[in-house]
Order: sequence, then C-alpha cells, then structure tokens
Amino acid sequence: MDDCIFCKIVKGEIPSTKVYEDDTVLAFRDLEPQAPQHILIIPKEHIASAAEITDKNSAVVAHIFETAAKIAHDLGFADGFRVVNNCGDSAGQSVKHLHFHVLAGRDFTWPPG
Ligand code: AMP
Repeated sequence: MDDCIFCKIVKGEIPSTKVYEDDTVLAFRDLEPQAPQHILIIPKEHIASAAEITDKNSAVVAHIFETAAKIAHDLGFADGFRVVNNCGDSAGQSVKHLHFHVLAGRDFTWPPG
C-alpha cells in the first residue's frame, strides 16, 4: 500500500526504532509511548485491520503473539504486559495497517475505557 505509513516503515522509507524483525513481522517503538515500554508489532504484509483476518492470513497473528512473548522476555517484562488491538474508527484505530500494541512498565486499569 503506497500511502500506508507502516508499509513505509517496513520498506525503510520512514525511520523507526526497531526492536525485532524477521521475514513476516516487524516490531518497533511507538512514537507516542503510553507506557514506559510501548512497542508495535505489525505484519510486513499489508492487512488493514483485525476485521480483515481470515483463514488465509491468520498465521501471522499467531506469530505476532509469539513475537510479543519473545520481546517481553528479552526486554524483561514477561511478568506483566498488555497487548491491545484497536480495530476500526470507533475503537480508535488511527493507522489502517494491522498492529498490536505491547505495553508494559506500569500498572494498567480495567476496563480500558
Ligand atoms: P492506533 O491508534 O491503534 O491505530 O495506533 C497507531 C499507533 O501508531 C499510535 O500509538 C501512534 O503513536 C503510532 N505511530 C504512528 N506513526 C508512527 C511512526 N511513524 N512510528 C512509530 N509509531 C507511530
């Protein structure tokens, strides 16, 4: 997707602070962190949102959660973290490329609001 900022990050056209990368996913620090640790994990393939996950592309979601656990262990917050996906405008999705927020380093409230 030519006008997608996360596709541009995948292609290296926009800089990011990478935390992890492999053939199918990229993890990088959020520009506006909402916690001491705030990392975004995205598929390299453009998937617009969680509403677009099907039996054809869902394997990458499992890999994203494997990546979240790996990052949590590597960065030392495996004892407590939150994974968030905002899907659609009403849920606050501002970037229309599937991404999971991994937040840690403070206490979180529930419900999230
Ligand atoms: P959401 O509101 O769930 O769509 O989350 C999008 C997230 O992307 C927000 O937390 C933004 O701060 C973050 N973001 C937007 N542009 C960039 C960027 N160039 N590098 C890192 N994070 C970004």
